[in-house]
Amino acid sequence: MAKVGAPPVIPPELLPYDSYGTDPKWQLKFTYAWVGVLVLSTVLSLPRVIRAIRRGTGVYEPSNWFGITENTRSKYRSQRLAPISRPASPKRYIWHLENLLGRLGSIFHWTLPGLGLNLGHLILLAGYVATVVVCIVKDSVLVENSNRAGFLAIAQLPVVFLFGTKNSVLSLLLGPGNGYEKLNFIHRWSGRIMFLAAVIHGSLWIRNDLTYNLPILSEEKEGSGIRAFGLLGVLVLFSLRPVRKFFYQGFFIFHVVLFVAFFISICYHTTYAIPWIFPPLAFYGLDIFLRLLRHRIKDAILVPIGKQMTLIHVPYVSSGWAAGQHVRLRVFFSGRIMESHPLTICTASPETTCITSFPPGISFGARAVGDWTKALNQYAHQTAEEIRTLEMKSKVAVPIDDPEILQNEKVTTQQLPTPDIPVQVMIDGPYGGCSVDLGGYESVLLLAGGSGATFTLGLLDDIVGRCVRNGRRNGERTRRIEFVWCIRSFGQIDWFSNALIDIAKVAASSSRSPMPLDLHISVFVTCLCNPEAIPPIPNSDVTIFRPSVRNILLDLITPPQTSSLPTQLEQNEQFYAQDSTLDSTTPQETLSVPSDRSSSDVVLGDAEAPRISSRLPWIGDGGGVAVCASGPASLTREAANAVAGIQLSRQATKIGSVALHTEVFAL
Ligand SMILES: Cc1cc2nc3c(=O)[nH]c(=O)nc-3n(C[C@H](O)[C@H](O)[C@H](O)COP(=O)(O)OP(=O)(O)OC[C@H]3O[C@@H](n4cnc5c(N)ncnc54)[C@H](O)[C@@H]3O)c2cc1C
Repeated sequence: MAKVGAPPVIPPELLPYDSYGTDPKWQLKFTYAWVGVLVLSTVLSLPRVIRAIRRGTGVYEPSNWFGITENTRSKYRSQRLAPISRPASPKRYIWHLENLLGRLGSIFHWTLPGLGLNLGHLILLAGYVATVVVCIVKDSVLVENSNRAGFLAIAQLPVVFLFGTKNSVLSLLLGPGNGYEKLNFIHRWSGRIMFLAAVIHGSLWIRNDLTYNLPILSEEKEGSGIRAFGLLGVLVLFSLRPVRKFFYQGFFIFHVVLFVAFFISICYHTTYAIPWIFPPLAFYGLDIFLRLLRHRIKDAILVPIGKQMTLIHVPYVSSGWAAGQHVRLRVFFSGRIMESHPLTICTASPETTCITSFPPGISFGARAVGDWTKALNQYAHQTAEEIRTLEMKSKVAVPIDDPEILQNEKVTTQQLPTPDIPVQVMIDGPYGGCSVDLGGYESVLLLAGGSGATFTLGLLDDIVGRCVRNGRRNGERTRRIEFVWCIRSFGQIDWFSNALIDIAKVAASSSRSPMPLDLHISVFVTCLCNPEAIPPIPNSDVTIFRPSVRNILLDLITPPQTSSLPTQLEQNEQFYAQDSTLDSTTPQETLSVPSDRSSSDVVLGDAEAPRISSRLPWIGDGGGVAVCASGPASLTREAANAVAGIQLSRQATKIGSVALHTEVFAL
């Protein structure tokens, strides 16, 4: 019997490329790489997460997971000041370590104009792109078989969805301040990379078909592939910044519809896509489920402030949010129930807030910039006018059809105070928040441009309330706060003047406590109109010029040249001495600071703005500075670059760690 030997072995170089055996392995390698980076980031974020869990704010308070809640039975706590407890100083080695890490990390804050991404983001994205490129080209025969690029395109799906959903577990893992709006850039870029990988995959197959004279749309495989590719292309086009800017609602609707269509097409195109559809569906399903749990419909009040701002108060809401968080708000007016807009909560929780001029609960400020916000402001004005007319009619005992009487009434209705305009709102959230715990820093700089003040106002309310009203019970170390607000016209101060007066009064009332909190407010106005309209906010300056963020920060952290400047305590004592009936130790409900204009200094023309060092007492080096900036991208970029520059200077060794959080009001 003839012996049968081993079958002949085909040399590997003669074997056709085993795409379906090899390429899925590269999908997994790519997945291990990004999951590894995510795990590393989670580990590095642990100290901040632990601190946030200890403090129990924002997403780290389990009761906040189910959204904003209302406690109608409990009465709001009276605003009595709690005894001050002295915070413990951090250990020396922790101070040095934090200082060093902060300085090293500050370089990542550098931001280039126009990109909206800082150096940290760019490095991360460069690493991401490099990983995708390596996974596509390593050991592949792309020109003959471009499936690898297609496999890698599909492997982007979990990233696209994990970083794109509003309620993501990442916000919990990566520490405070990592809401969807901060992680969204990875969603956008992984989507673009997915499209580019699909372009490589599709175009090289089309090239092959053309080379070998094969029809491009012959089979279902090609047809569904072209359909999926087309859908992805439209999706990317409709997500570009100009579309998001001018047709946000259209962008949003197209996003959802096109992705569903893409999923269906890609599953027809290849069965290898099916397992990659499940993680995105799970992430999106969890998001929808949590959003359902966190949605609330509430009664609210609209208060129009001029033609540019509408305050929205949602009374009786008592917990479920942290200062600096935002919600997606739907206001039921004029049939516009489909539109939800992100608005930042500008008040602290009821047990902390210092603001008494707003109804207790949560408040938002919506600046009239576009279609929805302008319509809301108009609706508020119109309804206010109608309510006033009705009020007048109910008081007048003459026939109301007479046009002359109606004309006279119009004059008088306009003199009536703006009534509360009742509406219903749907709240989805809260989301995001501040990544910096202001209570961990002795000096705080809050910078805002225009409506960005909603963010810094909420933070200011919270930190003043925690230090003064709540008696620093969580070891808050904050000693001085500079609140800077850049606005276009004097009238805009009215948006939040009452709230600022309330907060400034509470801060001033701490002057005699063992650990006073000094607050100074600087308002920078860029237009010379109606300076008479400045409200009397204690210890505030109004300056007509655009400030340099770097100079403000330098001024805050540089010791004063002269020691003859009055300390805040002395300033406050002088302030109270003006009215002998006032006692600065009086609890807040009876405290009334004289509303004399001398408390707001106005600097006109090109005169130099008052130095912060002449307005806030020097408290020595080492306590660290927290900087939070919100508003237009130009302002937040300037703040980020100022912090990065100062952290790398010699001065930074003395001031302690400098933390930064920026908030841009655009997605
Ligand atoms: C996290 C965050 C917090 C914000 N907080 C405040 C705040 O406290 N006060 C305030 O006045 N503004 C805030 N904004 C901005 C506010 O959401 C927009 O000004 C508002 O949605 C504009 O809508 P519009 O139809 O009037 O204007 P449009 O002219 O339609 O839009 C103006 C800009 O707003 C963006 N935009 C429009 N609709 C939406 C939407 N549904 N979701 C996201 N962006 C949208 C567009 O990209 C465009 O750039 C915030 C934005 C973000 C992202």
